[in-house]
Amino acid sequence: MDCLFCKIAAGDIPSKKVYEDDKLIAFYDIEPKAPVHVLVIPKTHLAGVRDVTADNSTVVAHIFATIPQIAEKLGVSDYRIVTNNGADAGQTVQHLHFHLLAGRMLGEMG
Ligand code: 5GP
Ligand code: ZN
Repeated sequence: MDCLFCKIAAGDIPSKKVYEDDKLIAFYDIEPKAPVHVLVIPKTHLAGVRDVTADNSTVVAHIFATIPQIAEKLGVSDYRIVTNNGADAGQTVQHLHFHLLAGRMLGEMG
């Protein structure tokens, strides 16, 4: 499949990895919007939140169960998790991903 994040998950496109296990990978965003900006993605392809179902949501639970460890590794205690679903929400890569943003006052959500 021609998917950028599937290629990153497979190691076909290099990334600056923070954490990896059999189900997910976390790597630094190429265009950081905060001093700490990491993307957490499932290794399996889901286009976005719209693809999450009762049958595949265990990977989402696993991502959230692992985010505290990733944050600890990054040395941040306060952070924001964002996921954009659909073009109007700002989604540019059609593979489910969670932005972990930290390292500055993040302000209100817009
Ligand atoms: P979205 O806009 O879909 O919510 O988030 C996609 C994110 O992927 C953006 O923040 C963008 O900077 C990041 N991104 C796009 N291409 C690459 C890439 O090749 N490598 C990395 N590490 N991040 C990327
Ligand atoms: Zn993908």
